[in-house]
Amino acid sequence: MSSLKLVNLRHTLHQNPEIAGEESGTADTILSFFENIKPDQTIQSIGGYGLAFIFKGKNPGPRSLFRAELDALPIHETGNSSYKSQTSGKAHLCGHDGHMTILCGLGERLAAQKPDSGEVVLLFQPAEETGEGARRILDDPKFQEIKPDYAFALHNLPGFPLHHLVTRKGTFAAGSTGLTILLTGKTSHAAHPDAGINPARAISLLIQTLPTLPATLQNFALVTIIHAEIGSLAFGTSAGKASLSVTIRAFDQGDLDSLIARVKAEAQGIAKLEKLGVEFRLVESFSVSKNNPQAAEIAENAMRQLDFTILEKPDPFRWSEDFGLFSQSCPSYLFGLGSGENCPQLHEPTYDFPDELIETGVRIFEGIAREVNG
Ligand SMILES: [Zn+2]
Ligand SMILES: [Zn+2]
Repeated sequence: MSSLKLVNLRHTLHQNPEIAGEESGTADTILSFFENIKPDQTIQSIGGYGLAFIFKGKNPGPRSLFRAELDALPIHETGNSSYKSQTSGKAHLCGHDGHMTILCGLGERLAAQKPDSGEVVLLFQPAEETGEGARRILDDPKFQEIKPDYAFALHNLPGFPLHHLVTRKGTFAAGSTGLTILLTGKTSHAAHPDAGINPARAISLLIQTLPTLPATLQNFALVTIIHAEIGSLAFGTSAGKASLSVTIRAFDQGDLDSLIARVKAEAQGIAKLEKLGVEFRLVESFSVSKNNPQAAEIAENAMRQLDFTILEKPDPFRWSEDFGLFSQSCPSYLFGLGSGENCPQLHEPTYDFPDELIETGVRIFEGIAREVNG
């Protein structure tokens, strides 16, 4: 059973959602929870409204880091819970309220029984949903104080049986990025399109070509057309500019990087042929979440000692997590916690993190922390 204190905390967080970059109140709630726990060190305002709490062992040893996310989503909640979002248009529909609560529960356990060796860092990261938070944490000079030997995170997973652990060696979740291609030509009178430079043909070539680029790769990769716009709704004017937005995703970081380069090269080639200017904007970039073999060994050892069913997933998830950036920079491990087969999917307006999972998450995280730090 999850403690009433933790369940109440989860409901308070759920009721007061804040989206990426605005998590000041959420950070305050977490900070005041840890004031009673008294960690050995607290780091505030890391990577934005991020927080890190450090529990130190008496003996030297490795530093392990556990990550939760502070942000909610800009989606209106339509569920009926008594602790429903009090902010119209914003809600915790990805379960980050639950992930935060699990990390608070781990804090209680570490305060009751300090680690033997090394340090355990509990990191509350802002702006996960936009893919910006992990980058900001890693780029913050304060990160040097918590730079981990191992980093761990979990995500609740609707569609999997409640309390089942979903694991994977190697890539756990795809990396992805949004890319907007901006083409600039020249408008002209619609009666004299030859006097202008119309980007329509370039856009149609790109729409046909870009989704075929992953075909030459061995592993799964996708270029998905998201949005296109040519000129404006002015019947007297031949279009002079256009934009095309795609999402690029892959299971391998090398594939993702090379695919981004090939999409850009293709667009540059076509733009040159059509005498158009071209610019690129990368948005919502997520690295591949790749599980390190040593970190996996540690985490799965801890899991096997507990009484949960472990499901080894054959393929990586196609969605992305910005924990991927940690996994590209230190030995890391991300796993899933089943939140029920009939549970609404993440980001659905009725999604609500199951309170029963709090205790499960705390036990597994504590198991991993004891495995590394005693
Ligand atoms: Zn999400
Ligand atoms: Zn999430």
